[in-house]
Amino acid sequence: MARLVMKFGGTSVADIERIGVVARHVKREIDAGHEVAVVVSAMSGRTDQLVAWCREASMLHDAREYDAVIASGEQVTAGLLAIVLEGIGINARSWQGWQLPILTSNVHGSARILDINGAELIKRFRERKEVAVVTGFQGINKETGRITTLGRGGSDTSAVAVAAAIQADRCDIYTDVDGVYTTDPRVVPRAQRLEKVSFEEMLELASLGAKVLQVRSVELGMVHKVRIFVRSSFERPEDIDPHGTPPGTLICDEEDIVEQQVVTGIAFSKDEAQIAVRHVPDKPGIAAAIFGPLADASVNVDMIVQNVSSDGATTDLTFTVPASEYQRSIDVLGKAKSAIGFARLDGATDVAKISVIGIGMRSHAGVAAQAFKALASRNINIRAITTSEIKFSVLIDAAYTELAVRTLHSLYGLDK
Ligand code: ADP
Ligand code: ASP
Ligand code: MG
Repeated sequence: MARLVMKFGGTSVADIERIGVVARHVKREIDAGHEVAVVVSAMSGRTDQLVAWCREASMLHDAREYDAVIASGEQVTAGLLAIVLEGIGINARSWQGWQLPILTSNVHGSARILDINGAELIKRFRERKEVAVVTGFQGINKETGRITTLGRGGSDTSAVAVAAAIQADRCDIYTDVDGVYTTDPRVVPRAQRLEKVSFEEMLELASLGAKVLQVRSVELGMVHKVRIFVRSSFERPEDIDPHGTPPGTLICDEEDIVEQQVVTGIAFSKDEAQIAVRHVPDKPGIAAAIFGPLADASVNVDMIVQNVSSDGATTDLTFTVPASEYQRSIDVLGKAKSAIGFARLDGATDVAKISVIGIGMRSHAGVAAQAFKALASRNINIRAITTSEIKFSVLIDAAYTELAVRTLHSLYGLDK
């Protein structure tokens, strides 16, 4: 017998028929003798719609009300799954974030989980075989008593946090792909499923654009040593061998991976924007004058490049910010114009960041240089580069995203 958390994402609960399949997956694990707690997302597309409604109501809406609105999607699916489970003879009860409770920080729209009462879930399963169906993505702040949400994709984090709270043996993330691939299989059909990925590499993949797991869920899994297994909800529950190992990807410690490749995977993100601060006097304190105000405004700056300006006498500082922070960054810099002393600001929002990730890079030189050559042979211009111990990223024009990802995927021998 094992204790399991089963998390089902948006496409897995997209309609009543799919919720029926989810219920059969839950039944399968209970019939196999396991203790189970379930975490669900909103039906696919629902959260996007709720966000759009908030924006339509007012572009400057109160973040507390935004959370009140967008948390509602998960309430619907948790209730519906509990109803369907009861219908097939399984004792079930839905739990919203405030009911359990899942206590979080007070940062509306991207709150952090602080504590979860897991004891009640275990007790109810032990005493009456009652399955808890917990709403993902949401919690409550104790001081204000208000509903909070955890940031897009946050149900993964809810699931891992519940798994840590009930000391589950495994946290199964059921989604619309049967594991973590070498890159997004929707973009590169030749991508390969990875049997195992280390927490560290998964953190990089997730934070650099592979949205299969929310970054925070991987961090939590690493800290609390939760075994996270990514697998498909699209298999027929009745076809799964209860004693076999289903297809999927285990996120685990580096030591548990026997055959380590140099490059594990490629992630990409179009959620970047580039800003160039032109013709700045080249003297000490200039970087502080530019990045200080941005830091004060909580803008996350990445990929910084400094060049000599076209006049040969001044300097240009170019860097990236999240696309969602682009306008705010331009406004912040505009206000600091006289303190910085630049001539003009240029911006580009049609850029993409392509990142190559692999623990093997620690011990292999020249991995990035190969990519620069391959991209050049495809006539893809690199606008900026960053590197760290186990990854490097290049910024390119967004129009070349797919070509660049496919080129690098073949280059590092990741094609099927
Ligand atoms: P869910 O609704 O189940 O949470 P998501 O849409 O959030 O599902 O995440 C699953 C999607 O992540 C897949 O459909 C796939 O397109 C995308 N994805 C991006 N990168 C990867 C990757 N490296 N491996 C697998 N899936 C990936
Ligand atoms: N429903 C939320 C979202 O779409 C949370 C999730 O699916 O993980 O972001
Ligand atoms: Mg998701």
